[in-house]
Amino acid sequence: MKFALLSGRRVEAQPKLRAICPACSGEVIAKCGQHIVWHWAHSSKLHCDPWWESETDWHREWKNRFPTEWQEVPMVDARTEELHIADVKTAENLVIEFQRSSIHPDEVRAREDFYVQMIWVVDGRKNDFDRINFSNMRGQPDGNGVVQFHWFGRSTLFNRWHTFRPVFIDFGPGYGFWRILRFDPKSKRGLAILCEISAFVAQTSSGETELILVGGPATT
Ligand SMILES: [Zn+2]
Repeated sequence: MKFALLSGRRVEAQPKLRAICPACSGEVIAKCGQHIVWHWAHSSKLHCDPWWESETDWHREWKNRFPTEWQEVPMVDARTEELHIADVKTAENLVIEFQRSSIHPDEVRAREDFYVQMIWVVDGRKNDFDRINFSNMRGQPDGNGVVQFHWFGRSTLFNRWHTFRPVFIDFGPGYGFWRILRFDPKSKRGLAILCEISAFVAQTSSGETELILVGGPATT
């Protein structure tokens, strides 16, 4: 985690500090090494949010595009007391999850049910194959920036995000930030639209709900 509580204030990890997890109130220890993103880790080893994944520069870069008070917001289901930490939760209660690692479709669904109003931003720069493949498998953008693509090969990048919530894949500089409008896992054909990260941040921050209403790649 980027933030923990020290004397009631949200602070970032610094060498040798101990603090309190804002979600579970457990003790967290600063992990500050040369080759890692400085972060807070629970002293009890297990993270209180089972969905939490270890943070990379990519996660931090994305979170930092939003105000700090919207980053890492604990959310509890009042009925079940299930607890998770939203990567970003805007003032209008829109949750944005930055996802790097593979997760099972059941967990994709569980997270969507929990957060309700949410958007996925997926790390498409994890390996070079995915972003180069996507460049090769897509057509040229039409006047609106929309492309058709035909995904083949072994990568499950798209299948994992066959959801009813909006999915954006960040393939990195030179490869683009794409919203996946449609994807059919049988034919492996889909539609995507090239987006600008700054426009995405502005729109999600503005409280407009249009993005959510349109739905995800599995919406027909
Ligand atoms: Zn915790």
